[in-house]
Amino acid sequence: MSTLLEVKHLSKFYINKKRIFGGTPETVKAVNDISFHVDEQETLGIVGESGCGKSTTGRAVLRLHEPTAGEVLFRGTNILDLSEDEMRPYRQKMQMVFQNANSCLDPRWTVERSLAEPILLHNPGIGKGELDDKIDTIMEEVGFSPMYKKKYPHEFSGGQRQRIGIAKAISVSPEFVVCDEPVSALDVSVQAQVLNLMKRLKEERKLSYLFISHDLSVIRFISDRVGVMYAGRIVELAETREFFKNALHPYSKVLMAAVPKPVIMEDKNALYQGIGKISEVSRSGCPFATRCPHAMDICRQQMPEEREAAPGHKVMCHLY
Ligand code: SF4
Repeated sequence: MSTLLEVKHLSKFYINKKRIFGGTPETVKAVNDISFHVDEQETLGIVGESGCGKSTTGRAVLRLHEPTAGEVLFRGTNILDLSEDEMRPYRQKMQMVFQNANSCLDPRWTVERSLAEPILLHNPGIGKGELDDKIDTIMEEVGFSPMYKKKYPHEFSGGQRQRIGIAKAISVSPEFVVCDEPVSALDVSVQAQVLNLMKRLKEERKLSYLFISHDLSVIRFISDRVGVMYAGRIVELAETREFFKNALHPYSKVLMAAVPKPVIMEDKNALYQGIGKISEVSRSGCPFATRCPHAMDICRQQMPEEREAAPGHKVMCHLY
């Protein structure tokens, strides 16, 4: 498969405004010089705990939050160089599924109107009959009878609303979809239904996903490759099977230890002891140094570089 999306040295910094009147403004490096690619029909899972920068990454890639630096190449075109008009066809090709479908569904609109809006935006010449057929087909694709299109969002359950959110994302025939915690607000039984739907749509529509989740079990189920984020950086990246067999970075091992069962790491209790919180990011050297059970002197002084520990398996850690 060829590369669909290539992200090079992407950064997104914010100024912490709370500090402006109380001292020197602080720059928050939400995403800090990350690079990765997503192949055609591939799912790259990005996992990490709350505040690690994974959602900011998804939004920066789509230019919903303008990146501070870097490149986002979609089929070789750096979309960060494009004007809003030039971006329009890329906005059609690059869609998003949100954690909460209410973010993309107007409660005053029927499902039909919500689905029609993006289709009309990107196909202004479409006829009424063709629009109706398209909406009916999309409803069926996500498991609803077309007659449900006359209902309002509040008449659906959380899982059903999420399926409508997915329907809205695919309504304009994208090639690439950022899925930002799309099942984390759902019950476990409903999660499985939505994940299976997303897998099926990926196959049928030949989609590529950047799938963001804090839940390693979900990432394992859906992803072809896994990237682990910590403090704005991708600290490990590998094929899913290789990652779950041979996770290398100490933070990846901590995440593994947090997965209920089957647990892979033998030393999970040792790893959990005194790892602290993500807010305790080391200011110099490796950002994980304050929490890492294997931290050495060099870790507090020098940022580790990315190394390829095995073919396609990259890790940022002085241990390797
Ligand atoms: Fe731990 Fe050092 Fe590796 Fe950072 S570089 S994860 S502190 S061993």
